[in-house]
Amino acid sequence: MNEKANYRTQRAARQLIESWQRSGVTHLKRVVPVPQQATQPSASHQPVVQQPISQKPVTVVESETVVPTAVMSEPQVKEMNHAVNQGTLLQQIEVSATEVSSSEEVNEIDDPRKEMSVPRTTKSKLTKGDRQAELEIIAEQVSQCQKCPELASTRTQTVFGVGNPRAKIMFIGEAPGADEDKQGEPFVGRAGKLMDKIIEACQIKRSDIYIANILRCRPPGNRNPSDVEAANCRGFLDAQIEIVDPDYIVCWGSVSAKNLLHSEMPIGKMRGRFYEYGRTKVLCTYHPSYLLRNPSAKKDVWEDMIFLFKDMGITLKAQK
Ligand code: SF4
Repeated sequence: MNEKANYRTQRAARQLIESWQRSGVTHLKRVVPVPQQATQPSASHQPVVQQPISQKPVTVVESETVVPTAVMSEPQVKEMNHAVNQGTLLQQIEVSATEVSSSEEVNEIDDPRKEMSVPRTTKSKLTKGDRQAELEIIAEQVSQCQKCPELASTRTQTVFGVGNPRAKIMFIGEAPGADEDKQGEPFVGRAGKLMDKIIEACQIKRSDIYIANILRCRPPGNRNPSDVEAANCRGFLDAQIEIVDPDYIVCWGSVSAKNLLHSEMPIGKMRGRFYEYGRTKVLCTYHPSYLLRNPSAKKDVWEDMIFLFKDMGITLKAQK
C-alpha cells in the first residue's frame, strides 16, 4: 500500500474507533479480521453498547467482520479490507481507545461533554505554601524550556501564570501577547485591562484567582498556537491545574477551549454550560480580545459570569 493509501486507511481506522467511542466502546477485547470478500455491514457486527459512556463500560467486540460503512466511504472500506489482508489493520485498531482519544489527529469531537475521559480526582489537601513552592519549581522548568524552538528563540521571557495558588477559579487564556511577553504576566495588555474590569464586576480581585495560558511563550506576530506547540506546553498547564486544583476553570476563547477540552465546537456553542474536567467544572466564553472587537458580546460574557457565580452560590449584581 502506498503512503497515501496507508494514511487514508489509518484515518479510516481512527474514524472507526471514534465511532465506537461515541457508542461507548472503550476497550476492544477481541477483533477477528474481515474475510476477504466481506464488504457489507451487518447489524450483528456493530459494536455492542452495553452502558452509557459515563458509566465507563468495558464493551466486548467479537465479530467475524468489522466493516463500519456507517462512517466510511466505499474506497475507504476497500482500503481497510486491503489493510486487513496485509495484516496491518489489526495493528491499527488494537490501540486502546484512551490512547486514540488523546491523539491530535482524532480531535474532531462535536460535544466534549460526551467524550471527556479525564479521571475524577479528589480535592487536593496541599497547603497554599506547598502549592506555591510546587508552582515555582514548574515555573523554573518553564523558564528554561526550549521545546518549541521558534518560540524559545523569539520570546523575551516565559509567561508562566499568576495568582492565588489555591484559587477556586482558574482562568486559562490562549498565549502571551506582546505586553505579556514584555512583563512576564498573563492578561496585562488591552485585553488584560478588560479582563480586570470583568474581574472587578464579579466583585473579586485578580489575586483571588489563578491565571494561565495554553502557551507560556509568545507566538511571533500573535499568531495562534500550533497544535504541536500546544501539545508541547500541555504538561506545564496540566501541572498548574493539578497543583492549584481549582473548582472552576474558565476557558477564555476558542483556542483555550479547544485545547483544554479537545473540542472543535465554535466557542459560541460551548458557552452557557459546564464541562467536566476531572473534578473541575469548566466554563467557556469569549476571549477579551474578541470583546474589544465585538463589544456587543460583552453581555454574553456577563451572562456566563452570572452563570459561573450562581453555581458557587453567589448572585452577581446586574451590570449596565
Ligand atoms: S510554549 Fe511552552 S513548551 Fe513551548 S517553548 Fe514555551 S514553555 Fe516550552
